[in-house]
Amino acid sequence: ARGLTRRFVANKPLFGAASIVQAVNGIDLDIAEGETFAIVGESGCGKSTLARLLSHLIEASEGSVIYDGRDISILSGKALRDLRREMQFIFQDPFSSLNPRMTVGALVGEPLRIHKIGTPSERRAKVAELLRKVGLRPEHADRYPHEFSGGQRQRIGIARALATGPRVVIGDEPVSALDVSIQAQVVNILEDLKDEFGLTLIIIAHDLAVIRHIADRVAVMYLGEIVELGDAAELFAAPGHPYTEALLSAIPIPATGARKVQTKIEGDPPNPISPPPGCRFHTRCPYAEDQCRTERPVMREIAQGRQVACHLAERLTLEGIVGTEKTR
Ligand code: SF4
Ligand code: MG
Repeated sequence: ARGLTRRFVANKPLFGAASIVQAVNGIDLDIAEGETFAIVGESGCGKSTLARLLSHLIEASEGSVIYDGRDISILSGKALRDLRREMQFIFQDPFSSLNPRMTVGALVGEPLRIHKIGTPSERRAKVAELLRKVGLRPEHADRYPHEFSGGQRQRIGIARALATGPRVVIGDEPVSALDVSIQAQVVNILEDLKDEFGLTLIIIAHDLAVIRHIADRVAVMYLGEIVELGDAAELFAAPGHPYTEALLSAIPIPATGARKVQTKIEGDPPNPISPPPGCRFHTRCPYAEDQCRTERPVMREIAQGRQVACHLAERLTLEGIVGTEKTR
């Protein structure tokens, strides 16, 4: 993606100019084939909008997405249908995204019918195979979504997303609505299927804990912008941006369930209609200096494969203020 931007008109006033929300603001991003790429941030940071822009479910206000060497914004007709087939979505709430009056078999097979793949009996066989792949049984095809638990319904959602043989699967908070005990199971299924089918996975999450074990790379978003991007293991070991550090400090320690002592992130994110000048994070950043309030930091490489948008990234990292275990 290059310069990807999406604006929305928010609450049109009676007089004066409408408020414009820059939901996604000039994002540059490269996602490699076969990787698991996570996009993380608080709700309202623009991560879902970014995912929809990447798959052309919504139009960009500016910028472009190049997929397989082609600008997807100019695709139409068959080329656009092929793109839909190749890029599938898994949504947050498996129940609301599934039509309750359709059987599981009809739901999972629907993408096959839409894309006119196979004969009815081939489609039935494919549905049975998909249900087995996600840990359900072929006879579940005759039942209805409400007969299943949240975790099982999300498995149904995954089976449905895989029906057309996609190359890219985008999960928009695929496990956020599930119990913590079920989340890992569903994430593991996604990971197994990714390996089996050679998928590129894009996972949107507000919680770093969810993607900790599956993401190859992570992009951290704040108010419509990416503030840190890098290898997942490295980013978890040593965050380079104060916001990433704050997100990480909010992850419970698995052994005790206790929150890490220092949760530096305070308050709600600022109103996206009028983001703060300078660094958008400065109103909540514990390290903010004068420069942060006026000058906008741009993404720059602070280490191989690691980009951070923070004026003080090197200093904070070098001095061990951000990014070392002991300070978190
Ligand atoms: Fe904090 Fe300044 Fe870095 Fe923004 S640029 S994250 S305000 S230190
Ligand atoms: Mg969302």
